[in-house]
Amino acid sequence: MGKFGMKDRLRSLVAMLFIAFLPATLAAQTAPTEIKVGTRVLPPMVTQQGDTLSGFSIDLWNAIGERMKVKTTYQVAPDVRALLELVRTQSVDAGISAISITAAREAVFEFSQPMMSAGLQIMVRGKGKDSDPNPLGDLAGLIFSKGFLVWIGIAALLVLVPAHLVWFLERRHPSGLLAHKGYIPGIFDAIYWASTTLATQGGDMPRHWLSRIVTVLWMFTGIVFVALYTAQLSATLTVQQIQGGINGPDDLQNKKVATTRGSTAANVLRDLRADVVEVSRIDEAYTALLDKSVDAVVFDSPILLYYAASEGKGKVHLVGSTFRKEDYGIAFPAGSDLRKRVNAVLLQLREDGTYQKLYDKWFAAK
Ligand code: GLU
Repeated sequence: MGKFGMKDRLRSLVAMLFIAFLPATLAAQTAPTEIKVGTRVLPPMVTQQGDTLSGFSIDLWNAIGERMKVKTTYQVAPDVRALLELVRTQSVDAGISAISITAAREAVFEFSQPMMSAGLQIMVRGKGKDSDPNPLGDLAGLIFSKGFLVWIGIAALLVLVPAHLVWFLERRHPSGLLAHKGYIPGIFDAIYWASTTLATQGGDMPRHWLSRIVTVLWMFTGIVFVALYTAQLSATLTVQQIQGGINGPDDLQNKKVATTRGSTAANVLRDLRADVVEVSRIDEAYTALLDKSVDAVVFDSPILLYYAASEGKGKVHLVGSTFRKEDYGIAFPAGSDLRKRVNAVLLQLREDGTYQKLYDKWFAAK
């Protein structure tokens, strides 16, 4: 028998094996697995500055990745269709941005549980009456419009001509219309008389037979003038109402409406028979709205709200509430084993307040 018994030899073998494999075991624990994630820029869900991605979805995925101890590399797609194609062909392990969970997509992909609720909304140009009602401003706008000034001019002429006529005829009458006999201030009496006559309020009766004829004629002129003015005013107001006429999805038929290519909004707009303009980046839709090449933008409400409260402030406003509710989810290729792990972490993040913190960071009212 040697110095070492069988037991000892076995023990040292185990120890050697342990030492030999230790680094490998440690390495397996520390080196994170790499995960490829597809995304697409849609502020504030995903924003891009240079090569740096940020935004709610990116922060959320980074928090998930951290918990799962995986390292993420991102791949940016130009539109949602391209993004989903990356996921379907397994070029990436997951897709996250503002991907709506739909029945058609559910048939092709695995979705995480909803990571945020959203929905479609309409955005149009202008400040928006609800946010900032200003009836005085509206009235001022009407009074100082070009059309209104023309009417004032006509009214002035319709007052000054008979005023002079009547002043001339009445100036000699001691008990006539004019309280004062000279041109000034007599003409002011005549102007007052002519104004009330034009507004068909019929004031004092003149003495001279000719000025009585003028009075009657001018009263009828006044009736026609007021009728024409009323007609013009109501026509202007009606046109204004018709032009600002997008108040809900039903008003979108035959209107030019911008949205992103391959989006759920594009499908809905086709069903509504709108004239759809599909763009790749959402800011192209915003630009089209501002330079009046489209009448409205229909898209996901969190994204439109963010724009309307930041860059688009005072230039655009949202109409009505969301008219189609949708939920955002993280998309995985069919048969992916990632989904269950991600769902568990997603719930943890909601329960420990991390989710809320990220939500407030990107969506807190400005
Ligand atoms: N929620 C939209 C969709 O899933 C986003 C579209 C887009 O990324 O442009 O269709």
